Amino acid sequence: MNYDFFSPSQISFGWGRFEELGPLAGSLGARGLIISGSRSLESNGVIEKLKRLLTRSNITSEFITTISHEPEVADVDQTTNILHHMGIRAGDFLIGIGGGSGIDLAKACAAMVTNQESDTVLDYLEGVGRGLKLTQPPLPMLAIPTTAGTGSEATKNAVISSHAPAFKKSLRADQMIPNLVLCDPQLACSVPPDITARTGMDAITQLLESYISCRAQPIPQALCLQGLKLALSGITEAVEDGTSRSGRENMAQAALLSGLALANSGLGMAHGVAPALGIHCQIPHGLACAIMLPATLQANISVRQKEYADITHFIAPELSISEAEAAHWLIDKIQSLNDRIKIPRRLSELGVNQSHIPDLVASSRGNSMSGNPREISDTELTQILEDLL
Ligand code: NAD
Repeated sequence: MNYDFFSPSQISFGWGRFEELGPLAGSLGARGLIISGSRSLESNGVIEKLKRLLTRSNITSEFITTISHEPEVADVDQTTNILHHMGIRAGDFLIGIGGGSGIDLAKACAAMVTNQESDTVLDYLEGVGRGLKLTQPPLPMLAIPTTAGTGSEATKNAVISSHAPAFKKSLRADQMIPNLVLCDPQLACSVPPDITARTGMDAITQLLESYISCRAQPIPQALCLQGLKLALSGITEAVEDGTSRSGRENMAQAALLSGLALANSGLGMAHGVAPALGIHCQIPHGLACAIMLPATLQANISVRQKEYADITHFIAPELSISEAEAAHWLIDKIQSLNDRIKIPRRLSELGVNQSHIPDLVASSRGNSMSGNPREISDTELTQILEDLL
């Protein structure tokens, strides 16, 4: 077996370690350009504190922007323009702080500011535009995750949307993995329960899909098992008590592990359909993954029963049941977790109807779907989505 494993150069993890930001960031450069993924981080003083901590270590900073939606082509192009007008110089690095939206915007801008063959990121996205590749390394990048969901802090891609034409595609390159990750689970304490629930289910979906992906590999699989053990107990704790240290720590680690895993082994059907649900039906990414996960597990049980059973026996070693029973136990566990944290069972509860299905099927054929352990035809996917209405 041959494989490559990519990861950030350094991951600094721990409760309260945001305080160490200055000395850690010093290794990346002399001026931090800040992109935030949440207005809450401004109103609760986190961005002010970030700037103060940098100043204390003699690092200057510029606040560039806050994004309060999942990033679109225009956001990347405009923010890259702002960076160009400021004048990028040696010693500059980007800081992406927030959920997947803020970190992805920062990752995309770090790449676009040094790659100027086109003035729009559209031309660099997978499957749309001119298919340009990065020829220059992105600016150095510090990722500070605050949602415990996407694992974007450890991945090679940034997910970028467009409404006209409608698509949600990745900008992807090995060099786009952030150089440094500062993961302080305490930063997620201000995330409300519904967002904790859906972002946490995104991490769980990534861990399960990476484990069973047709591109699965030993290192990611080992990470997935550990991540699932942490997440399956941590998610309800974090949703039901947002200040729970163990809940937030377990989920932050699970999300990080899910990012390391997906960056190296790909995903599956739930992540194939989620961008389509985002772009055509405005369903937030994590919620789309959560609602698609039980159906995805069901659709793949014929080829991954043993893997499901292996996961069950790892997270619940006390169970003495057959392989088939253990595989079904895992699917039931995920459905009951979704129910407990109030993820709807039906797509119709989120405004999806029959007329959306052809567009959803057509827009589900991206990189993630290609990792699904078996081929899902358009006819089968149509049936799966209709059954979820
Ligand atoms: P998000 O970044 O959109 O954030 C969700 C909400 O949480 C926002 O309203 C934000 O304001 C709020 N929030 C964030 N941090 C907060 C805090 N500390 N306190 C209070 N509120 C806070 O959601 P997400 O699920 O983290 O990211 C979704 C995006 O990431 C999607 O575009 C998705 O496609 C993408 N994604 C990227 C990757 C990758 O590898 N690059 C992987 C999966 C998903």
